Amino acid sequence: MTLSLFETCPLQCTSPLEKTSIVLPEGALYECPSCGQLLSSCTQGWYNESMQEFDNPQGTVPQGSMDKRYDQRMSRILKGAQKKLPYHANRITSLDVGCSSGALLQVAQRCGFNAHGVEPADQAANTASGIPDVSVFKGFLHDAKYPDNHFDMITLFEVIEHLTDPISMTQEISRILKPGGIFLIGTGNADSWTVKLLGEKWEYFDIAGHGGHISFFTPKSMRKLADHCQLNIKEISTKRVNFGEKKNVGFMFYQFNRIVRELLALPARWTSKGHDMLVTMQKSTH
Ligand SMILES: [Zn+2]
Repeated sequence: MTLSLFETCPLQCTSPLEKTSIVLPEGALYECPSCGQLLSSCTQGWYNESMQEFDNPQGTVPQGSMDKRYDQRMSRILKGAQKKLPYHANRITSLDVGCSSGALLQVAQRCGFNAHGVEPADQAANTASGIPDVSVFKGFLHDAKYPDNHFDMITLFEVIEHLTDPISMTQEISRILKPGGIFLIGTGNADSWTVKLLGEKWEYFDIAGHGGHISFFTPKSMRKLADHCQLNIKEISTKRVNFGEKKNVGFMFYQFNRIVRELLALPARWTSKGHDMLVTMQKSTH
């Protein structure tokens, strides 16, 4: 028998994992009854194979018409985070962990930041290194050995759902963040209405489409993560709900979904039940 990646909750909860009714091609999803984290039962081999897709020169740069919307959205997020800093910095020093080919580094640069990135996938990192005036470390975060209390802002977008040990990475992030510095995490929300309604059909669970998605956070598990890493939660915001992925349903049903989705967008935000989650953490100043 081959072992799955998770035998226990990666947030170090003590209760044993429980099998859910959501079954993916790689096996059933497991749930931590204490923090709600959902965990893939995929093996190390399957995981490694699914991660290959990240090593290409294009990386995860949004293509075509997505470009402008991505830029606007991320620039709004970065500027919002800047306002949460408890001190004035003439120039923000930022780090994007898992920067891929550098889409967010370019946005950070346009915001006037001194932008740094870390990326283990070789070809994507080469593309990012080609962006003028940004500094990219090719490899894993721990190997970059950044100094203590160094960055004003650190971003981790669409990365944490790939990690078997999120505490280890977040502790390193906490070490290199300045006191009062901001840490932003973007990932899916396992405690969303979308998961309740779509179950295994939620495209975010698709390890073939999204290489290496193995660990799905909830607002509660994010609080546990912050507690383990001497970080404080400033804000958890979620948005968007989905009741049918386009490829699985007919045109009429999809149109109907669009209307229901619009109607439920606001209540999903108010109740933290949206499937897109943005978490703002801050390192304490003492
Ligand atoms: Zn847990």
